[in-house]
Amino acid sequence: MSEAVPKGEEVLLKEAVSKFVSTYNRKPLAAAAAPGRVNLIGEHVDYCEGFVLPVALPFFTVVVGAYNSTDECMVLSILASGQEVQTSFSSTESSSLQPGEPGWANYVKGVLANFPEKVKGLDAVIVSDVPMGSGVSSSASLEVAFFTFLEDLTKITVDPVKKAQLCQKAEHDFPGMPCGIMDQFIVTLGKKDHALLIDCRSLESKQVPMKCSDVVLLVVNSSVKHQLTGSEYPQRRAQCQQAADELGKPSLRSATIQDLSKLKCEELVLKRAKHVVEEITRTELVAQLLERKDYKEVGRLFYQSHESLSKLMEVSCPELDQLVDIMRSSDGVFGARMTGGGFGGCVIALIKKECLASLKSKVRSEYKGNPVFFECEPSDGARILKIG
Ligand code: ADP
Ligand code: MG
Repeated sequence: MSEAVPKGEEVLLKEAVSKFVSTYNRKPLAAAAAPGRVNLIGEHVDYCEGFVLPVALPFFTVVVGAYNSTDECMVLSILASGQEVQTSFSSTESSSLQPGEPGWANYVKGVLANFPEKVKGLDAVIVSDVPMGSGVSSSASLEVAFFTFLEDLTKITVDPVKKAQLCQKAEHDFPGMPCGIMDQFIVTLGKKDHALLIDCRSLESKQVPMKCSDVVLLVVNSSVKHQLTGSEYPQRRAQCQQAADELGKPSLRSATIQDLSKLKCEELVLKRAKHVVEEITRTELVAQLLERKDYKEVGRLFYQSHESLSKLMEVSCPELDQLVDIMRSSDGVFGARMTGGGFGGCVIALIKKECLASLKSKVRSEYKGNPVFFECEPSDGARILKIG
């Protein structure tokens, strides 16, 4: 399969309700959906309090469920691959919830533990078509979908920014991933036909209109995920904090390029810091350029961002570099860059609509791996669903 076509929220909901009824022999009482996301630009800067510019995708995680009058939580998930996984754990005391095996259940437990009130035992079914581990944040999609489902079940509504923060904390505390705020924020607050410029320091955000009529946002999944040591992300985070500490700043958001010349740290740390400071500037610029529909300049900054992620942040890989090189030599491509944490996952490109078909066939014939394409119309963020 080389095209990922979104199933749509209604189909996912139907699938989830039908699985719930056949598994638990009753109807679910609450339901919610949350999308995946792709970041246009502002990579590896959210944890440095920088600006990021993501969009919510038309791929969703849907959660349905109901209380079960016990102290146990039973959760079943049908993955995008069709595989089913199941977990059960005690919810007697939210504070006693502990991370453990299976790994995927930590995303759900983390959300339950961080929900503002203790939740009684429940049964739930999760259905998702968000590609997992491909850099489009299936993890935040799952966390925010489960949180929104709990809001519907308990009738407790949480302020959206607070909700994003609680879901981020869930990912820190349970799976143990020290992620920034971007993923949970866009998955919660995304809006159809808009990108969201997020200030990761103040947590203020601005919707940037992005109706894809003359241009297309194409995401190409490289279909590779290099397992390095697993500590690359925390390492980059620590290196950036080291540079900020040496400059006496709370984060690299407050640093300028001139400041960096004062750093006496090792070359590697300097390179990371340079990426962050320049990427933050690029991101603010792209938000302005998008409003003016200056796609040519947006594209130039996409390529710059990729170079920087590859050479300074060193989070790219040969497959992502090859995909970007193919884009660079193709007609009608304004720009392309790796998106997400790196070492595999996806490339995002801004393309003239009429050139889309020829670009796809060029990628299919030249790329060494198995590319999977999806066209991304910016979509709405998390929401409660009505069960029909
Ligand atoms: P990404 O967020 O880029 O997709 P992560 O490694 O952060 O990649 O998160 C992927 C992990 O999240 C999976 O390995 C799995 O543990 C969990 N996960 C995501 N979506 C689901 C789902 N629908 N059901 C069960 N687990 C999921
Ligand atoms: Mg993730």
